Amino acid sequence: TPFWRKLRAQLQPRPAVPSPAWISSRVLADSVDLDALHLLPRIAWDAAFAQHWRPGEGGAREALDKFLIEAVSDYPGDRDRPDRVGTSRLSAHLHFGEISPRQILWALWEGAMNARSASREKGVETFLRELGWRDFSHHLLFHFPNTAQQNLKPQFDGFAWARDNSDVLARWQRGQTGVPIVDAGMRQLWQTGWMHNRVRMIVAGFLTKNLRQHWLHGARWFWDTLVDADLANNTQGWQWSAGCGADAAPYFRIFNPVGQGERFDPHGDYVRRWVTELANVTAPLIHQPWKQPDILHRSGYPSPVVDLRESREAALLAYRQMRGDSV
Ligand code: FAD
Repeated sequence: TPFWRKLRAQLQPRPAVPSPAWISSRVLADSVDLDALHLLPRIAWDAAFAQHWRPGEGGAREALDKFLIEAVSDYPGDRDRPDRVGTSRLSAHLHFGEISPRQILWALWEGAMNARSASREKGVETFLRELGWRDFSHHLLFHFPNTAQQNLKPQFDGFAWARDNSDVLARWQRGQTGVPIVDAGMRQLWQTGWMHNRVRMIVAGFLTKNLRQHWLHGARWFWDTLVDADLANNTQGWQWSAGCGADAAPYFRIFNPVGQGERFDPHGDYVRRWVTELANVTAPLIHQPWKQPDILHRSGYPSPVVDLRESREAALLAYRQMRGDSV
C-alpha cells in the first residue's frame, strides 16, 4: 500500500514516444537466424494456444481495446470471477514488451476523458492498482534478487515443509487433485497457458498449505507452463501465497478451496468448463462432489488427495512451530 500510494501520486499520463522510424542495423549484424534458436517446443503441447493468444503489438492493442469497451467498468467485481471474462488478459503482452504500462495508462486516461462515469472511474482506479502490483514485483526482484530462489522472510527458512512428494505434485500439475476449483485452474493453465488470478491464488495456497509442498515446486511449474511467465510477478505471487513474501496474506488465513469455489464460481460454470467429468453436476455440489460418492463413482473423477480440514490444521501447526509458539 505505501508503495502504491507513492507511485499513484506520481503517475502522469502522457502519450508514448512514437516508434523509431529507423534502427541501426549494426546492432543486428551478428545476430543468428531465429529458426536456428529452436525455440518452439519439440512436443506440440502448446497446440491449442493459437486459439487463445494473438502475439505481437496488434494483439496487445486488441486485448486492451476489448477490455476498455467491454470490461473495465465491471472490473472491480468481475476481476475475481473466473467464470467471466472480466480481466484484460494483457499479462503476456506486458511481459514480452508488446505494450507498456505507460501506453495502457494513456489509453485509460484518454478513454476516461471521452466517457466519464463513476463506475468507469472506479474500474480504472482498480485496474491501475493491479498494474501497480506488477511494478511492485519488479522493484522487489530488483532489490532482492535472491527471492527467485529464497524466502523473502528468512524466518520461513525453518518452516517444516512436507517431504517432497512427486505423486502428489504430479496430481496437482495434471489437475487430478480431486478438488474441483484447483483442478479446473490447473487444466486451464495446461490447455491455454494462462490461469485466472483468483484461481492462481487458490491453487498456490492449496499446494503450499494443504499439500505443504515447497512454493518453488509451484513457481517452477508455472514458469514452464504460463505464457505470461514472468520472474518478478511469479516470484512475488508465489511468495505472497505461501506467506513468506512481502506484505503477504497472514499465514493463518488459509483459503478453503470449497468456499472459494462457491463464492467466486457460484454456478460452477468455470469448473464445468475445465473439469468435464463434472459436466452434469450442479452448484454447490460441484465444489465438493465427494459429498455424494456415486458422483465420483459414475464420473471417474478422483477423491480429494488430502482431507482439507486435517491438512489445514497440519499447516497451522507447522506455522506455529516455526514461530516457536508453545503448541
Ligand atoms: P488483469 O487483472 O487484467 O491485470 C492487468 C495487469 O496487471 C496484468 O496483466 C499484470 O501485468 C498486472 N497484475 C495483475 N495482478 C497482478 C499481481 N497479483 N501481481 C503482479 N502483477 C499483476 N502474473 C504474470 O504476469 N506472470 C506470472 O508469472 C504470474 N505468476 C503468478 C503466480 C501466482 C501464484 C499468482 C497468485 C499470481 C501470478 N501473477 C503473474 C499475477 C496475476 O495472476 C496475473 O498477472 C494475471 O492473472 C494476468 O491476467 P490479466 O492480464 O487478465 O490481469
